[in-house]
Amino acid sequence: MTTFDVVNPATEQVVATIEQAGLAETDAAIARAATTYESWRAVAPADRARLLRAFAAGVDAHVEELARLEVANSGHTISNARWEAGNVRDVLTYYSAAPERLFGRQIPVAGGVDVTFKEPLGVVGVVVPWNFPMPIAGWGFAPALAAGNTVVLKPAELTPLTAIRLGELALEAGLPEGVLTVLPGKGSVVGERFVTHPAVRKVVFTGSTEVGQRVMRGCADQVKRVTLELGGKSANIVFADADLEWAAATAPYGVFDNAGQDCCARSRILVERSAYERFMTLLEPAVRGVRVEDPGLDSAEMGPLISRGQWEAVASYLPDEAPVAFRGQCPDGPGFWFPPTVLAPVSPEDRAVREEIFGPVVVVLPFDDEADAVRIANDTPYGLSGSIWTQNLGRALRVARGVETGNLSVNSHSSVRYATPFGGFKQSGLGRELGPDALDSFTEVKNVFISTEG
Ligand code: NAP
Repeated sequence: MTTFDVVNPATEQVVATIEQAGLAETDAAIARAATTYESWRAVAPADRARLLRAFAAGVDAHVEELARLEVANSGHTISNARWEAGNVRDVLTYYSAAPERLFGRQIPVAGGVDVTFKEPLGVVGVVVPWNFPMPIAGWGFAPALAAGNTVVLKPAELTPLTAIRLGELALEAGLPEGVLTVLPGKGSVVGERFVTHPAVRKVVFTGSTEVGQRVMRGCADQVKRVTLELGGKSANIVFADADLEWAAATAPYGVFDNAGQDCCARSRILVERSAYERFMTLLEPAVRGVRVEDPGLDSAEMGPLISRGQWEAVASYLPDEAPVAFRGQCPDGPGFWFPPTVLAPVSPEDRAVREEIFGPVVVVLPFDDEADAVRIANDTPYGLSGSIWTQNLGRALRVARGVETGNLSVNSHSSVRYATPFGGFKQSGLGRELGPDALDSFTEVKNVFISTEG
């Protein structure tokens, strides 16, 4: 077995050495998950619900431990990490109601009774990126397990610690061995095997658009079901009639949260030209005020980037001639620290405007009117998230209907609620997670006609 040194991105110290699954271990885990599937799908709905509630209670009892682990492994601020562990608990609790409510339909037909069933798929492979190790794992495994599937889960190589702990908590809660198996390892080995192994009936992939395309191509060979949650380049659209103080005070948190390593980061701020100067004047102190510090401190608002490689990738968007309008602060010394950075004025063709940077860098662009704002917002292959700031309700709704993204918030930067659907338009993804619809992604509809004429 190969091993991997897990590094704390705030200190560059090794915090754990993890054994990685290879092909043989992955195949063995998939085979066990396929065998366990037969018994797991047969567990009575109320009992499956009880086990998921016990799992949620186990997570709840370990929120602080999980959060501290995430701070050490991923450099998330402790307040974010507590929210993330709590989100796993809440998503499990939400879907624990599902086993007893997986309703089919009775459809009127001639000569008999027609009913539909929502059947589980089998083994589901969940591939998780490094930016939100806990929530994204939970969004995959909770509805999958509730619907009667078994799950094999690959955390990102850089961030396996909380996923491993969640796997242990599942066992402690009474979920049988083989129902949820966490397999730390490389994407090119473990993740790729989820795609090629015929016993894996569905892949839930969250990560870059490039790897997502590869996963989708691979899944096509077996017409394997796939959910993709991919990159983003979301717009934060600020109209002149908005509460500009509030819009500017919150804009940094809409993009710099998790050091900008957020698929929903509003990394393009579009401001109506007549309010542009005023908005920039208000934005500067807000950006300078973001507290970038030891993520274990309760006061921390932003931690480091995940790795040296990510630091270099983000820095490549800031050549010497980059139009930096203003920057915040960050610590010196060890750790992959990067200051919050605002680029303006910037050409619409600049790489920083067009590509997902996945770091604390935001561009600010002016627009002329409503139509211009929607045009610029949609001028990207992505379509995940976004915000609209205006006090005009009709405009808010018109723009919300016009922007081609899956998750929008008006006068807010929130993107994720476990009870509402989440996912992307265009190259930001395929399918929806969370909310009532996610269960459809983990079941097949079976139609059965029973003759009453015999
Ligand atoms: P990534 O490089 O695409 O990796 C994501 C996961 O896929 C990792 O676990 C990776 O394993 C694995 N992987 C790599 N090659 C694979 C292959 N050939 N087959 C199957 N799996 C493979 O993305 P990342 O850099 O970790 O994450 C950042 C990206 O995720 C950003 O683009 C971000 O926008 C996106 N994201 C999207 C959402 C959303 O909900 N839309 C949420 C969060 C993040 P390794 O650990 O070995 O690399």
